[in-house]
Amino acid sequence: MTFPFYFVNINHQKPKKAEIIDCYEISYDKKFYKIKAPLDFKPGQFVEISLAGIGEFPVSIASPPSTKDYFEICIKKVGRATSYLYRMKEGDFIGVRGPYGNGFPVEKIIGKKIIIIAGGIGIIPLRSFIKETIMQKWHASLKILYGARDPQNMLFRDEIRDWKKHAEVIEVFERGGERRGLVSEFVGEADITGDEYVFVCGPPAMFKPVGEKLIEKGVDKKNIFLSVERKMRCGIGKCGHCIFGGRYYTCIDGPVFSYENFLHAIL
Ligand SMILES: Cc1cc2nc3c(=O)[nH]c(=O)nc-3n(C[C@H](O)[C@H](O)[C@H](O)COP(=O)(O)OP(=O)(O)OC[C@H]3O[C@@H](n4cnc5c(N)ncnc54)[C@H](O)[C@@H]3O)c2cc1C
Repeated sequence: MTFPFYFVNINHQKPKKAEIIDCYEISYDKKFYKIKAPLDFKPGQFVEISLAGIGEFPVSIASPPSTKDYFEICIKKVGRATSYLYRMKEGDFIGVRGPYGNGFPVEKIIGKKIIIIAGGIGIIPLRSFIKETIMQKWHASLKILYGARDPQNMLFRDEIRDWKKHAEVIEVFERGGERRGLVSEFVGEADITGDEYVFVCGPPAMFKPVGEKLIEKGVDKKNIFLSVERKMRCGIGKCGHCIFGGRYYTCIDGPVFSYENFLHAIL
C-alpha cells in the first residue's frame, strides 16, 4: 500500500548518522573531529551531536561553510557526553542534527574592517568565520586578538601562522608569551578607529570588559557581536533550558547577539 506524501513522516529534528573520518587530540582534554556529512550552514551556527544511549550536546561548527561534504568540531571533555565522544575514533558513527542558531551576520561585513576577539575555546566558532573571511576576501582589514591560558592551550597554532599572512594576530597569554594578562586588557593594541565590526566569543566574564573598551574606542554597540553559550538541550526553542535574560532563547535567537541586545538581556 502506498501512502499519499502527507503521511510520510519527515522528521527534520531526527539525528542523521555521520562517520568520524578523522580525529586527533589537541591537548589532554581537547579533541578535533572531521565528520562526514553535508551541511549547509553559516559561521557561528552549531549542531547537536547525538550519542545513542548517552545523550546530546550542542557544539559549534569550526570549519568554514565552503568546505562541503564534511564539517569540523573541536570539543573539550567536561562531562558525560563530551567524554564519551572523546573516546570515539575514526570510523565510528555519531548522530548529528542541525545546523541551528542564527550565526554571525556575514551579510553586514563584506568589505568592512573586522576585529575578532577570542578567549580560550571561544576561538572554535570564530575559526569558521575567520577561515571563510580569508577565503572569500570579505574583509577590508582583519585583526584577531586571541587570549589563552598559556601557549600550550592555544588552539589551531599551525593555522594561526597562515592567518598571519592575511590578518594582524595579537596573542595574549595569562602565563608565558610577550603580552601577559587577559585578552580584554589588550583591546587597545588593535588600534581601533571606531568603524569596525567586532566578533567576540569566549568566557562570559570577558563580554562586558571587552564591550566597554570597544565602546570607549568608538565602536557602535550594534556592530559588536557576541557568541553566547548557555546550558542547552533541544536546540530548537522548545525546552527553555537556554533562555537568556528572560526573553531570548539562545538556541534560536542566538547564539550570536549584538552587544546592544546582550545589554538589554542582562540589565
Ligand atoms: C551554542 C553552543 C556551542 C558550543 N560549542 C562548543 C564547542 O565548540 N566545543 C565544546 O567543547 N563545547 C561547546 N559547547 C559546550 C558543550 O555543549 C558542553 O560542554 C556540553 O554540553 C557538555 O556536555 P557533557 O554531557 O559532556 O557534560 P555534562 O555532564 O552535562 O556537564 C558537565 C559540566 O560541564 C559544564 N557544561 C555543561 N554544558 C555546558 C554549556 N553549554 N556551557 C558551559 N558549560 C557547560 C558544566 O560545568 C557542567 O557541570 C557549546 C555549547 C553551546 C550552547
